[in-house]
Amino acid sequence: MAVSRRTILCALAAPLFVTRPAEGAERLGRLVAAYPHHLARLDGQVVVWTDGTRMETGAGRPERPFEVMLRDATLTDQMRQAYPAGPPAGPPGRNHSPGRIRSTAFFVKMYGDCRRGGADRRHRTVTWMPQTRPQPLPVTTENDVATRLERVIAELERLPDRLKAYLVPSSGTFNCRTVADTGLLSMHAYAAAIDINVARSDYWSWARERGDIPYRNRIPFEIAEVFEAQRFIWGGKWYHYDTMHFEYRPELIGGA
Ligand SMILES: [Zn+2]
Repeated sequence: MAVSRRTILCALAAPLFVTRPAEGAERLGRLVAAYPHHLARLDGQVVVWTDGTRMETGAGRPERPFEVMLRDATLTDQMRQAYPAGPPAGPPGRNHSPGRIRSTAFFVKMYGDCRRGGADRRHRTVTWMPQTRPQPLPVTTENDVATRLERVIAELERLPDRLKAYLVPSSGTFNCRTVADTGLLSMHAYAAAIDINVARSDYWSWARERGDIPYRNRIPFEIAEVFEAQRFIWGGKWYHYDTMHFEYRPELIGGA
């Protein structure tokens, strides 16, 4: 009796935890299309890089708990949580932090490993907010991220002055460091992320209490909207919110 009941429960639970093959392939196709300088095609369940490297995607494997995927993500895991572009509909749901699940092997291959030196040869200096409070910042040239950030900056300079206080000074771009709670390299280690003014920002672990994390944000969406147009995602849309943080993740958001 117990066995048959468990069988029934497993059958009911399965659709919640296994991504349908067509859906998974569509998401991996979006990943390949988002990085044309580096990725050539999808070959079955393998991503093929332009240099011929083949990378397993973990397609077809059952979804694991969020905390496990956060520390050991496959490319399929990296695409599981949809990033909601546009004005936020409300606080993010529990553990919905689209973008925080990242495959370290994927980004190290793409942007270089700052722990081994030499990655900074791919950086160039971008001037943050040159008309407001100029600040030189190193940004990766891979995937035209530096050029895209300059487009973001040009648009941010056109925003009303009341919004500039959220932007300057920037708390930085490149930082060869790991994320505190996962021990894995941050997008800052790849020079593909920027933090705006920390004094106007909120970060989930500053506010953590027992159980749920109470959502908090002071950054106006007009700022995030400018970044999203250049395919940078915003940490203000994460359950584990980091409202000063933007990172280039074109596989999760459409745009120019
Ligand atoms: Zn950051």
